[in-house]
Amino acid sequence: MKKNLLFLISFLMITSPSFFSCNTSKNPYSQNDSFENFKKLFIESIWKNNSDWALALGNHEYDERLEIPSKENRIRKLDVYKSLNDSLQKYDWKNITPENTIDARIMMNFLEYYNWSCYELKSFEWNPAEYNVGEGFDLILGNSKISLERRLQIISERLRYVPEYYIVSRSNLRRPTREHTELGILQNKGSLEIFEKNIPDSIKASKFSEEEKKEINNNLSQALSSMKEYIEYLSKLQLTSINDSTTTRSFRLGEVLYKKKFQFEMQSCFSVEEIFQKAKDHKIEIHNEMLGYTKKLWSKYFGSTVMPEGLAAVKMMIDTLSIQHCAPNQFIPTIKNQIPELEAFIKQKNLLTLDSSRPLEVRETPMYMRGGGAGASINAPGPYDKNAKTYYNVTPLDGYTPEETESYLREYNNWILQILNIHEAIPGHYAQLVYSNKVDDLIKSIFQNNAMIEGWAVYGERMMLEEGYGNNSPEMWLMFYKWHLRATLNTLLDYSVQCLNMSKDDAINLLINEGFQTSAEAEGKWRRATLTQTQLCCYFTGYTEIYALREDQKNMLGNNFSLKSFHEKFLSYGSVPVKYIWEIMKAEDKIR
Ligand code: ZN
Ligand code: ZN
Repeated sequence: MKKNLLFLISFLMITSPSFFSCNTSKNPYSQNDSFENFKKLFIESIWKNNSDWALALGNHEYDERLEIPSKENRIRKLDVYKSLNDSLQKYDWKNITPENTIDARIMMNFLEYYNWSCYELKSFEWNPAEYNVGEGFDLILGNSKISLERRLQIISERLRYVPEYYIVSRSNLRRPTREHTELGILQNKGSLEIFEKNIPDSIKASKFSEEEKKEINNNLSQALSSMKEYIEYLSKLQLTSINDSTTTRSFRLGEVLYKKKFQFEMQSCFSVEEIFQKAKDHKIEIHNEMLGYTKKLWSKYFGSTVMPEGLAAVKMMIDTLSIQHCAPNQFIPTIKNQIPELEAFIKQKNLLTLDSSRPLEVRETPMYMRGGGAGASINAPGPYDKNAKTYYNVTPLDGYTPEETESYLREYNNWILQILNIHEAIPGHYAQLVYSNKVDDLIKSIFQNNAMIEGWAVYGERMMLEEGYGNNSPEMWLMFYKWHLRATLNTLLDYSVQCLNMSKDDAINLLINEGFQTSAEAEGKWRRATLTQTQLCCYFTGYTEIYALREDQKNMLGNNFSLKSFHEKFLSYGSVPVKYIWEIMKAEDKIR
């Protein structure tokens, strides 16, 4: 496979038109055509070697094959990636378009990240939750573009790999963390339903003969028992490993690995230290702003009651305002009604062109997607299914007790609900995504940068209020800051827990006393901080970069700066790291 690949690469280099055009003069990007071809080859090779990832992004070419997480496979991939990297080095970035230099760096980041993951991070040793075959089977079963029988044939082929998959998974584990072991047990148990119910039901409903059904069922039962064995193995490990450092390790990544992972994940112009310091300073600024608005509002809501010292007053004000929320049965209609209002505001203030040909559909979260804890989410079409609808999923409140419903509605009170809609829909995730999908470039849509995506949604919240959304009411600003504080504390929490040994008590205290969160929210966040690393930073990191870029553009362009053109230009590059957009914009300013 490696030989073939190298052959293909050299073949493309030789036959690419630019090679023959020999710089007849005007084309400043002489290697660009060749680079475009190389990108296609690169993506093809990534999918060939990552069939599960391909499937998750809607490329069904390799569905029959389940990727075995073996050492041999890692080595083979490292080999392929090495030759891709060598080919990438042959391009002089001056000879490809600026948009393609972004791609080149994204590709290089990906290859280096994989290399580092194999040799340094090694999560395949300590994270048993990395091993779970459920999702892939679920996606294939749900692929309604092909007949049920065809789906079951693919599933039957794929099932044959499962026993080996779990044997290899077990042998990969070396001192896994207790937290990730717990998660591995939980999530693999969660997948059992697919094999015990969904697939058997589909087999029964199919037009296969009894003989054919028997064969699939046979593959199914072997896969199922290997999965159960894995769960059992992890459960035993959990029982025998309590406080035993020879069999478990800490979930805390430590500074060295954390910093490197941050670099690969964020691809930010700021270092971990810079972002952490900015978050610390920002927390203090936010608290001061919140105190200011609380003072302004005090007599309106508390009359002559004496205002307590410090953040206690802010908490009282937030609790009082939170009582103003919609009725449980009005939750989804309220969200639906707000979307056109946000659109109208964007138009009226001339902030961004919104493409009305790509409408957003607000719907109740489908049953199979519920239970993840998220009350609202955007369901975006993937790079292989661009014309699919964009859904704004909102989970209706019928599954909650009256107390839980009340607590939830206070959290998403009259003001926060508007900020949520700004974040998820307009001008946040949905609007950004419409722009991103117009960039016809698979590299940019496959390797999306989360800091840019979440950063834009967080930036949008502040920008809307700056432009007068909510009529500058102190209530709106106070609630905005409560929400904004969450992104800031996420960063402080992540770094402190992963690198500075922050205890659970200190973490919960921070979130409740300085973040005004409920204890349920704080507990959930602590859990996330033990299970993920650097992910909680993407909101604040991206926001900080985008805001800084905007201020930089304002300074550079002076009177020529237009907020609308800035937004449209910024979004036109796709979901790529902010620092690359920054570099291109800066270069263009100089030409101007
Ligand atoms: Zn209420
Ligand atoms: Zn978001």
